[in-house]
Amino acid sequence: ATPTALMVGTGRGAQLGILIKGPQVLESTRAVDTVVLDKTGTVTSGAMRVSSVDALPGVDEDELRLVAASLEHASEHPIARAVATLADAVEVGSFANHAGFGVTGAVGGRDAAVGRPSWLAERGITASPLEPGPSPLEPVERTGTTVAVAWDGELRGTITVSDTVKPTSAQAVADLRSLGLEPVLLTGDSAAVADAVAREVGIDRVIADVTPADKLRVVHELQAEGRVVAMVGDGVNDAAALAAADLGIAMGTGTDVAIEASDLTLVKGDLATAVDAVRLSRATLRTIK
Ligand code: ADP
Ligand code: MG
Repeated sequence: ATPTALMVGTGRGAQLGILIKGPQVLESTRAVDTVVLDKTGTVTSGAMRVSSVDALPGVDEDELRLVAASLEHASEHPIARAVATLADAVEVGSFANHAGFGVTGAVGGRDAAVGRPSWLAERGITASPLEPGPSPLEPVERTGTTVAVAWDGELRGTITVSDTVKPTSAQAVADLRSLGLEPVLLTGDSAAVADAVAREVGIDRVIADVTPADKLRVVHELQAEGRVVAMVGDGVNDAAALAAADLGIAMGTGTDVAIEASDLTLVKGDLATAVDAVRLSRATLRTIK
């Protein structure tokens, strides 16, 4: 590959809204045969909205909103941005973000957490034995992502959020496929939500309910099968997988951590530009003798 052709390709990329970290990136793009897509913020808008707030019996809903919104105020996760709108935040002590799981901190003397129900269960959070009825950790709504809210060792309620598929995602998936790339949906969200999104955009292979460490492992496993893997993501939870992929592609609308871990950034956060990147790399390398 002549340096000149690669530089021209890189410049053309910038015009298309594709920021390329180095000229050699276009060469790795050409060889990719598998594209692993994160769900939230990559295939979907990431503009999540709260669809329900469910306080357990005996829990004040305003208190639930206040604790959850305050904790999520400091997180840049799409779920956090939705939950943070539920109340005016108060100060949080010893805040910690657990990428791919949730957030913890002290809110007005309460030792609180918001996050993935299975993660809170592992931390010993259980519903009060006085709670009647089915397990409160069952999703309230199958179409939404339900997170649990707990403080002082007890589950206090759940909040369900949902977002929508970006208008360009289905066409981009179809285009990637016609370029010979197999799409795989990889998400920390539940299988029910992941399957619904996959169906909507035409992806057959879905790997759901994974941790950030699992995301990295999936990339390594696909590479061990002999595949050349591109990973597209936007979150802190995607960073390790983005760095390990043969080609890491970050959504420009995503976190700085994801952008830093990647080879390519799609400035507008539009999957259609990932298709442009593959086409650009092929066109650039065709001109090289
Ligand atoms: P995705 O792979 O879809 O981008 P993540 O790996 O970031 O999702 O998150 C996986 C799951 O962890 C979420 O579906 C949610 O249950 C939980 N989670 C992660 N971050 C947060 C947060 N800030 N607040 C509440 N729940 C969270
Ligand atoms: Mg994401």
